[in-house]
Amino acid sequence: MVTRGETIRSLESESFDLLIIGGGITGAGIALDAASRGLKVALIEKEDFAYGTSSRSTKLIHGGLRYLKQLEFALVKEVGSERAIVHQLAPHLVVPEKMLLPLYERRGLGYWLTSIGLKIYDWLAGVKGDDQRRMLTKTQTLKFEPLLKSDDIKGGAIYAEYRTDDARLTIEIIKLAVAKGACIANYLELKNFDYASGRICGVQAIDRETQNMITIRSTAIVNATGPWVDELRTINQSRHGKTLHLTKGVHIVVPYHRLAVRQAIYFDVPDGRMIFAIPRGRVTYIGTTDTDYDSNLDKVVTTQEDASYLIMAVNEMFPSVHLTMADIESTWAGLRPLIHETGKSASELSRKDELFESETGLISIAGGKLTGYRKMAERVVDRVIQLHFESRTLKSCHTHTLVLPGGNFTNRKAVQEMEASLAARMGTVGLRGNDATNLIHLYGSQAWQIMTYFENHRSGSPEQDLLEAEMMFAIEYEMARFPLDFIIRRSGLLYFNHPKAVREANRIVAFFAKRFQWTPEFQRIQESKVNMALEEVLLFKL
Ligand code: FAD
Repeated sequence: MVTRGETIRSLESESFDLLIIGGGITGAGIALDAASRGLKVALIEKEDFAYGTSSRSTKLIHGGLRYLKQLEFALVKEVGSERAIVHQLAPHLVVPEKMLLPLYERRGLGYWLTSIGLKIYDWLAGVKGDDQRRMLTKTQTLKFEPLLKSDDIKGGAIYAEYRTDDARLTIEIIKLAVAKGACIANYLELKNFDYASGRICGVQAIDRETQNMITIRSTAIVNATGPWVDELRTINQSRHGKTLHLTKGVHIVVPYHRLAVRQAIYFDVPDGRMIFAIPRGRVTYIGTTDTDYDSNLDKVVTTQEDASYLIMAVNEMFPSVHLTMADIESTWAGLRPLIHETGKSASELSRKDELFESETGLISIAGGKLTGYRKMAERVVDRVIQLHFESRTLKSCHTHTLVLPGGNFTNRKAVQEMEASLAARMGTVGLRGNDATNLIHLYGSQAWQIMTYFENHRSGSPEQDLLEAEMMFAIEYEMARFPLDFIIRRSGLLYFNHPKAVREANRIVAFFAKRFQWTPEFQRIQESKVNMALEEVLLFKL
């Protein structure tokens, strides 16, 4: 990777074809698509990559079964078909997950409508063979998941989805975009636009590390800031017509043994909504809520009401579990950047993406899904080319062929084989099989690079040395700048292993402090930021 200093100098001194504002999945996807077609691309992100919604989703690459209920056939077809493509690009990170859908009297669509609905779902998405939906009897459903409540159950269905790690997916796409020549920096915040003859021609951005203002020049500028899209449209004086409608979604995380579901489950809640319970290693996470939001975009937190809603839903569906607030180990809360439609409630709003073009030439993209990032990017880049670069010879969109870093496996079996050989190598130095599973899931074949670093830098216990090797990888190859970049978006520790994050917090800060030669005062500031983040996810319990 080039250093951050070199990137900032290039951003200041060069002129770009396309500048993208926002380093979530949308911006990352656009950067990769545009750079791989041959455009000269820059991207700036005000915090860390995936800081916004793209680290706080349900982490599914899914066709959106519930959009079928809203008759959004085109959306279901597009995102449904994308699942298998994104899986091919990163088989370690986008993992097939069979979803159980229990069916009860007087709830949901009913047995036969669900059966037909799932058939259409599979057909729209081109799902074949064993992955096609399977309807289950009452006995079969309870055998699949004995924890389900048994009164009123009519049967169930099993259908195919994929689970992922949203932040890691975003970061791998960013890394590949950099490898394709894009100039990308985090902690660089757009403050204003520059204009020439009434057309947008660049931006003023502040480097949040040095507080220096820099100017970046570009022919086209895309606003891919998710929940912040309207803020930028306001700066551009183009916030009219359609606007954003933000809704908050919360997930809670409990130790696996407190909700030991055998596979992911998508179940009805008494208020007519549906939520997921998804096992992931040592925990199960549950979500999500869907409530209107009009508060601070940079401080989206779980409230007691959010947590109670999810706990009650679990206890209603799994009556022997008796989940309480005390069981919650971590949480996350994110904002859906949806497009407002008068008279529609949060859950009824469409998840379709839309492009807005201002008179001065700013292109804003809003709405959409993590799952559809590639097709959204293709549409945006097509439009940018049509507006500005039609005379140039550029490649057509080929992101469906660009394997993401760490994803060079022929199939899922090859991932499992690599996991087994990594586990064997790790076993010889006192690490556990779980460590290999975790490493492969997060980094794919890049896990070997981390392992090699580990073997060459032994100094403490195997667990501590492995953590250091991961941090070194995050800093050297993934542009992590601060401890929270690692704790939240590179390793997922804050959400999926909160006790370890608490245990290792000071060691992680000390490692970054040494690597970046921070002053003791700056190190203390970072320590308190980490402690605040660790507490914030559980603040509602106080
Ligand atoms: P973001 O990820 O929010 O990225 C925008 C970025 O812009 C941020 O990082 C922000 O810091 C940056 N930014 C803002 N202002 C500036 C500025 N001035 N200068 C520079 N940078 C700036 N989709 C699925 O497909 N599957 C799911 O399971 C799923 N579950 C979801 C669950 C929840 C609770 C929510 C809220 C959404 C879910 N989604 C899901 C939808 C999906 O997560 C979002 O559509 C997607 O992450 C949006 O990405 P984005 O890049 O547009 O926005």
